[in-house]
This record gives sequence, C-alpha cells and structure tokens, in this order.
Amino acid sequence: MSHHCGHDHEHGRPSHAAVGDALDAADARCVVEGERMTAPRRRVLELLLAAGEPVKAYDLIARYGADGQAAKPPTVYRALEFLERKGMAHRIASISAYVACTAGEDATTANHAAAFLICDCCGAAEEVVAPVGQTFALAADTAGYAIERTTIEGHGRCPACRVAA
Ligand SMILES: [Zn+2]
Ligand SMILES: [Zn+2]
Ligand SMILES: [Zn+2]
Repeated sequence: MSHHCGHDHEHGRPSHAAVGDALDAADARCVVEGERMTAPRRRVLELLLAAGEPVKAYDLIARYGADGQAAKPPTVYRALEFLERKGMAHRIASISAYVACTAGEDATTANHAAAFLICDCCGAAEEVVAPVGQTFALAADTAGYAIERTTIEGHGRCPACRVAA
C-alpha cells in the first residue's frame, strides 16, 4: 500500500531468504506452542513478510493465490485473526492494514505491545520495541485489566521523507 511518494527510500523488501527464515521460525513456534500452521495461515504470513510494509486485507485476498486466484475473504480473515492472536502479525487500526511482526526475539510473547512508527508520506511502518509498551502493561495491571492486545501507533514522517520535505 505504498503511496509511492517518490522520496528516496533505501530499505526495500526483505530477501527471499529472510522471508523463508521468518516462516521457518513461525513454523517452529507453532510446533512448540501446539498450534497448527495451516496452509492459509502460512500463506498470509508469507504475503505480509514479503510485502515488508502494511498491506490491506483486500490486497492479501487478491494476492493470495500463486496463480493469481483471489482467496475467499473468510480464509484470509481467519488466518489474520490467528496471526494477530499469536503476535506474528499486527493490525494497524489507523490505516486499516496488517503488517508482519518484526520484533523478532523481543516478540516471544504473543501479547507483546507493538509500537509502530508510521510515515504518512510513503506509507512505511516500522515496528519498534519501546519501553512505553511495558509501562502501559504495568498500568493495565494496576487497573486490574487483562489486556490481550496493545498496538501503539505514531504518525509522522520516516527519515527519507523528512530529508525530502
Ligand atoms: Zn510485533
Ligand atoms: Zn516515508
Ligand atoms: Zn515520502
């Protein structure tokens, strides 16, 4: 969903190998946690990883089939629901898009607070590990809430678009 603003962005899409490694890691996690990495779950995660940027659900549905066939929407939505629950992907509400989790080692818990830096110029979104997540979890705890999902969204401009502005 890049806006293709034309500003000079150095980071492109992740390599094929990087996507493969991330999928392997997700498979391994499912085995450990007794979950099933079904074909639709894996395919949707693959699409998100390969995009390397936020993707709208309807684009995932359109890109789903390797042969250009669109998926049935419930197939993709159910897969997204699973990936979100496991913290393998996140929904960025302010732009109604999904993105693969890139917190890596820091994201071993399914309910880690995901903090996103979102560029309103080019549409890039970068997940950062920020202490605000822990502070927020502590506040929730103090208030007696059991919070299952936290997504912090900050809007502005990425380095490339700032330089160009
Ligand atoms: Zn994450
Ligand atoms: Zn940007
Ligand atoms: Zn830009």
